[in-house]
Amino acid sequence: MTCDEFIAIYRTIVPAHAYREKNGVGIYTIPALSAYPGIDHGFSARTGGVSTGCFSSLNLSFTRPEQRENVMQNYRIFCDAAGIPWESMVMDTYEHGTTVLCVNRFDRGKGYEYPSLPFCDGLVTDDPEITLVTGHADCMAFYFYDPVRSCIGLCHAGWRGALDRIGAEVIKTMRIACESDPKDIVCGVGPSICPKCFEVGDDVAEAFEAAFPQCDLRGVNDRGRATVDLWQVAAAQFLECGVLPEHIHLSGVCTYEDGRLYSHRRDKGRTGGMAAYLRLLPRES
Ligand SMILES: [Zn+2]
Repeated sequence: MTCDEFIAIYRTIVPAHAYREKNGVGIYTIPALSAYPGIDHGFSARTGGVSTGCFSSLNLSFTRPEQRENVMQNYRIFCDAAGIPWESMVMDTYEHGTTVLCVNRFDRGKGYEYPSLPFCDGLVTDDPEITLVTGHADCMAFYFYDPVRSCIGLCHAGWRGALDRIGAEVIKTMRIACESDPKDIVCGVGPSICPKCFEVGDDVAEAFEAAFPQCDLRGVNDRGRATVDLWQVAAAQFLECGVLPEHIHLSGVCTYEDGRLYSHRRDKGRTGGMAAYLRLLPRES
């Protein structure tokens, strides 16, 4: 695909999100994903929890220097607001890699009630008994849903994972494990650092240009800093796998700019974590 062809397709993708609150707990969603009755998905805001200080208030990261009880309580609050069955969650253990694991009901509780999974940044399942959960604080969440095979994938895509095409790894895993056809897979990108705010050094910009020559991903922002457009990088790797342009959905929400969200860069590391979740809904029979 040439750069002109990619940009022409990319321009047809119109970012859209929805935001709702229940009991003060904010949840972002992507309307195009919400339109599918077979799944439930969302992304947490930082509101409505019990954490204080720089973690205020719905910190959902167990890796921050915070009391574990607070994070557990925040998850209980969040599950209640989002309608997620408490015992159903399976959490990633991110390492900014590209490891994708297939999980099922026997992995329920891993990462909070039970010991964590082995290191992985992506999860795939066809089991409606579990909820996939990944942690974020600027990094992209990629959501994947194949309504034909009834399987889902969710991953944490920081810039390293995005550069190494973790999105393609999730799609490959769905092909192998669930016999998914990429033409059937619907993709979403959750709240994450936007093209204007993701400042990089020349070495990082050059690495992205070399890996994704079809993109026009390099820019300069208002502060005169070099930037990289990670949302193009997301779309490019989905398209490379054979995902249809009309099946790619961006939330368009920037964690750096939206005060309801934690941002690792804006808050200079002194911040909490958010959670993305995705689950198959049991079929009515
Ligand atoms: Zn931004």
